[in-house]
Amino acid sequence: FDMFVLAFVERLFRPTYRKDDFVVGKKLGEGSFGVVYRATPSKPSSKEGDLVLKKATEYGAVEIWMNERVRRACASSCADFLYGFLESSSKKAPEYWLIWRFEGDATLADLLQSREFPYNVETLILGEVQDLPKGVERENRIIQTIMRQLLFALDGLHSTGIVHRDIKPQNIIFSEGSRTFKIIDLGAAADLRVGINYIPKEFLLDPRYAAPEQYIMSTQTPSAPSAPVATALSPVLWQLNLPDRFDIYSAGLIFLQMAFPGLRTDNGLIQFNRQLKRCDYDLVTWRKSVEPRCGPELRRGFDLLDLDGGIGWELLTSMVRYKARQRLSAKAALTHPFFDREGLLALSFMQ
Ligand code: ADP
Ligand code: MG
Repeated sequence: FDMFVLAFVERLFRPTYRKDDFVVGKKLGEGSFGVVYRATPSKPSSKEGDLVLKKATEYGAVEIWMNERVRRACASSCADFLYGFLESSSKKAPEYWLIWRFEGDATLADLLQSREFPYNVETLILGEVQDLPKGVERENRIIQTIMRQLLFALDGLHSTGIVHRDIKPQNIIFSEGSRTFKIIDLGAAADLRVGINYIPKEFLLDPRYAAPEQYIMSTQTPSAPSAPVATALSPVLWQLNLPDRFDIYSAGLIFLQMAFPGLRTDNGLIQFNRQLKRCDYDLVTWRKSVEPRCGPELRRGFDLLDLDGGIGWELLTSMVRYKARQRLSAKAALTHPFFDREGLLALSFMQ
């Protein structure tokens, strides 16, 4: 009850926007349910700087709900959401418009594609180029810092009762303001605690990053996909089904891609997924099957994960597991010894 009153009051005092308040700029992306643009406020006097605008179909209603929740409950986990509204000009089909602050130019996917990864991220996070010898130790610290930021953001979402369900490098943006990674694209998310349990058709899930269970709950696909479906799901049910572990699996695959450059391409990842399936989703079995005849690149990835007594590998295998209940929660992962070291912070003091 309190939450709804708070939401109402908060909304009452926040500036509202209309279509004419924005000048639409360059297209940033196009998904199945909307198009994303850069935008600027049309009034030069506006305090808001660069913005991002998503024009979405009927699914936009759910995405606005999720962003409003995040804004109040765990704002630092996701891109800074300003406002969402229904835009129904007479001629066209109704569209939902969603407005965020422009966080920065690079997603983790962009950064992973660079030959410089992970040093390009080190520069972004520390704000300066480090004059230190390159090697797996340093790369491990950078990857540690990225994983910590990602798990921190996920913990925020999960503690709020939201499962993202589309965690992948394309949906992780580097925020230049806070010098941290934030999560974007709540279009496929589910809010289980409050009861907005919208389960869209499975094709919404990206098969490259989806955990084997595919569905976060026993499926309740609504017949009419136009409106959120309210079901009362208690925290008890959350405990039983552990839907948050779906995101943990995806985050584990991102960890893997950071350690192994060969898995950063679509083909590399798809081939890995096939191999893992053949190993009944057991990473240890997968390692045994590839390590004896692996090339220098895979070798280097294993060496990185084996640093400090193999705690990186230990964390990875606690995230990418077949059974959801055997995967660590985001909160538990953050207390894993892999994160005991200071990560990048220590690097900047090493000079
Ligand atoms: P979809 O995947 O449905 O097209 P996203 O919400 O993932 O929509 O946004 C598409 C792209 O737009 C992202 O991959 C990112 O490059 C860019 N983008 C989205 N939100 C922001 C933001 N707040 N700041 C900067 N860029 C963003
Ligand atoms: Mg996206």
